[in-house]
Amino acid sequence: MFSRVNFNKHRVREIHGGEVRPRGPVIYWMSRDQRVSDNWALIYAKLKANELNVPLRVVFTLAPAFPGANLRHYDFMLKGLAEVERSLVDDGIPFNLLRGEPAEQIWEFSERVEASLIVSDFDPLWVKRDWKSQLNQRTSIPHHEVDAHNVVPCWYASPKLEFGAYTLRPKIKKVLSSFLTDYPEVTLRNKSESNPHHTRWHDALVWLNASDEVKPVKDFEPGEKAARKALDDFITNRLRGYAEKRNDPTLDGQSNLSPFLHFGQLSAQRVAIEVLKAPAPEADKEALLEELIVRRELADNFCYYNPGYSRFAGFPDWAKETHRIHRFDVREYLYTLNEFEIAHTHDPLWNAAQLQMVNTGKMHGYMRMYWAKKILEWTTCPEEAMRFAIYLNDKYSLDGRDPNGYTGIAWSIGGVHDRAWPERPIFGKIRYMNFEGCRRKFDVEKYIKMNLG
Ligand SMILES: Cc1cc2nc3c(=O)[nH]c(=O)nc-3n(C[C@H](O)[C@H](O)[C@H](O)COP(=O)(O)OP(=O)(O)OC[C@H]3O[C@@H](n4cnc5c(N)ncnc54)[C@H](O)[C@@H]3O)c2cc1C
Repeated sequence: MFSRVNFNKHRVREIHGGEVRPRGPVIYWMSRDQRVSDNWALIYAKLKANELNVPLRVVFTLAPAFPGANLRHYDFMLKGLAEVERSLVDDGIPFNLLRGEPAEQIWEFSERVEASLIVSDFDPLWVKRDWKSQLNQRTSIPHHEVDAHNVVPCWYASPKLEFGAYTLRPKIKKVLSSFLTDYPEVTLRNKSESNPHHTRWHDALVWLNASDEVKPVKDFEPGEKAARKALDDFITNRLRGYAEKRNDPTLDGQSNLSPFLHFGQLSAQRVAIEVLKAPAPEADKEALLEELIVRRELADNFCYYNPGYSRFAGFPDWAKETHRIHRFDVREYLYTLNEFEIAHTHDPLWNAAQLQMVNTGKMHGYMRMYWAKKILEWTTCPEEAMRFAIYLNDKYSLDGRDPNGYTGIAWSIGGVHDRAWPERPIFGKIRYMNFEGCRRKFDVEKYIKMNLG
């Protein structure tokens, strides 16, 4: 079965062993990769179901209180999942939304249907790893994990914490061609004739009782179809010129795909495949692929191999030492979390970036660096800076609660994946950014006007 399909087996690992024998269905526990197309975990689950000659079921578990999630995130996610359910049902695959503690829900469900195998998608963040280890302690059903998010599976690209892009890049490049292949069509043999289960999405939203303080945004329409439209729009209108324009926050020069990538409504590998085919200058394609593959997969590497990814403890030793020396340097400005949150600082550029995130659900990538570095400069210590930056980013960014966010913040505040720079107050040897530097790069007044009105 597998030999006839272009499926690289290194994408999969057994995280709970045992012989896989045909009993009830194969279950795909969908979590990070919330899509039907271009999903290696779903493809693997179909292949295993066909091999065992059993049906397939897809299950999503809705946790009662996912850390940091609010109505903005849940609205985007549930609308995307409603589309997933429709596509699966059309393809003869039942979908179940389970509510409650995820490990417990999956355990009960898989026991009830006497599952032959549980397939899940890889996620380096602790919350998901905890769910899986709780499940594996309880179940006797084999559990296989597929990295459907990275082009090169995280554990295969490197077995250790990497120093930076310069150490991960050659490792990825060496094996890229054996992973960057197009997705095969796999037809499920045992389709379900009728699927009576229609999820009540509104009830699910009510059950979550999510805070509506942060409203859904209009700029991003959720779902796989919308994600594909956004990709096509980027390739047609903005890929050409990306290398130059992406660092100017007054231009719409980025792809704006991060919300779709974060929720797994779009596959990064699909983006790479389409970008490679596009009639655009090589420099633009290379710049995009460097961000999409090397930088993004470096963030997964950081979170997977460094348990302190969201804390001071995760910083490299040289950064911890420089912070130790400069910890008590006098700060000219100090703000509370609330003052940051309502964009009441003395700096209109920082306030504009904060409001761009609050109002649109996405801050420009260049401004994210400036924004986080100023939080370091205007808080009492790096630990507080990390806490504030993560809180705000996770609360307002549609792509928040992502390895890219934890890594980007740790890069800005804790020198992760960076090198030591000439020493200066508060920052020590952490790379510094300032208003004048931004002014030299782009029209800051225009950006301020765009976001402060
Ligand atoms: C302080 C700080 C916080 C950040 N928070 C997040 C976050 O919460 N979620 C998030 O997805 N990204 C985050 N980033 C990384 C980056 O800024 C965003 O991925 C990017 O701006 C998203 O916009 P885009 O999709 O238009 O990017 P594009 O420039 O079009 O890039 C395409 C894709 O490449 C990846 N990518 C781009 N830049 C980076 C990077 N520096 N590191 C890792 N992957 C990258 C993303 O998946 C992105 O969607 C953060 C960076 C910093 C410095």
